[in-house]
Amino acid sequence: MSILIKNILHQSYRTDILIEKNKFVKIDKDIKNKTLKVIDGSHKAILPAFYNTHCHAAMSILRGYSDDKPLFSWLREDIWPIEACLTADDIYLSSRLAILEMIKSGTVFFADMYFYGEATMQAVKEMGIRAAISLVEMDMFDMRQTKQKQEATEKFLLQENPCPERIIKGLSCHSVYTVSGELLEYASQTASQNNLFMQIHLSETQKENIECLEQYNQSPTQRLDSYNLLTPKTILAHAVHLSAEDIETIYTHGSYLSYNPISNLKLNSGLFSFEKLYRKMPDKITLGTDGASSNNNLSMIESIKVASLVAKLQADSAVSGKAKDIFRAATYNGARAFGLDAGEIREGALADCILVDLNHPFMVPSYNPISNIVYSADSACISDVICDGRLVMENYQVDGEEEIIAEAQRTAEKIKKLK
Ligand SMILES: [Zn+2]
Repeated sequence: MSILIKNILHQSYRTDILIEKNKFVKIDKDIKNKTLKVIDGSHKAILPAFYNTHCHAAMSILRGYSDDKPLFSWLREDIWPIEACLTADDIYLSSRLAILEMIKSGTVFFADMYFYGEATMQAVKEMGIRAAISLVEMDMFDMRQTKQKQEATEKFLLQENPCPERIIKGLSCHSVYTVSGELLEYASQTASQNNLFMQIHLSETQKENIECLEQYNQSPTQRLDSYNLLTPKTILAHAVHLSAEDIETIYTHGSYLSYNPISNLKLNSGLFSFEKLYRKMPDKITLGTDGASSNNNLSMIESIKVASLVAKLQADSAVSGKAKDIFRAATYNGARAFGLDAGEIREGALADCILVDLNHPFMVPSYNPISNIVYSADSACISDVICDGRLVMENYQVDGEEEIIAEAQRTAEKIKKLK
């Protein structure tokens, strides 16, 4: 399918943009082309879509299930017990809810760490966006669980990818406080042998650092490094409490960091050092939402504003966390972290983008669309979303929206009874 977007604001000028198959093929004034689909862009701007590098998508069904607790009691008392009751079907329906939420807020990719990866892959395939899907390695130092997790991962990796053009299969380890050395070793070897992306929660809280130091005489970063888990295909989520030595180690290995400002604030985990880290490794800082039970939504457009404000607070400087840097982290860097030639509106790049309504009050006036999108806009300003050359939201509508909401309501009713 071809899409021709006419007279749209791109950067600081108006142009036509032609999409063929899954790429931007031409950006020029007055393109003549017999396309099936023409979009009038005269009141709109085109911007890169968002790439969410840390997510537990199906947790959208646990939105508001448990709030106002610190990370460890929140996980142990509420989240892990209810997660143990969820079925593959629950994960499929919850993933559809999460993807609907993502599309509505301009996200076309998420890196997921959860259970029943095949159910989430099915939802991604049907709804037209991209994802990196992994099963979470977490054995709580119980050798029976180590074996079960390894078997589940083997099975998942052998399963056919239902949509290889948009889905990447990867691996994830929950954290150094939930994963044994045996399982870390297995994950490291499996990722290396299969050239897989790896996601890990790292130094999310001070407590994690203190306990790791007591137990292993290493920081969490050093522990991951001792298992060769820091590579250019590793995405380290949170990374709130890093020493200068940890930062140097991560920098040397070329791993990516995923800044999750809202989850870190809500769980009072601490403040990510965006400015310092972005200055040191500007291509390696990406943005994530975390799951919707610690955020409590998957809106990257909300996260970019908070990311900038927290960066200013953390650095005690109004010039830190600049809109353009935060936006780049949430778009271009996120795509590059997963090897996607995307995250920018450029001829030859994958055709992923959002169209923003310049007549929405939050976008008026429009001296600088990047400033508006970071500091002013919300999801309601996004009218259309294109992923892989296909409209996944057209004029604010996503296919099957009502059915997805109704199914999620039914799943939540079931969960309420399990409480
Ligand atoms: Zn997480």
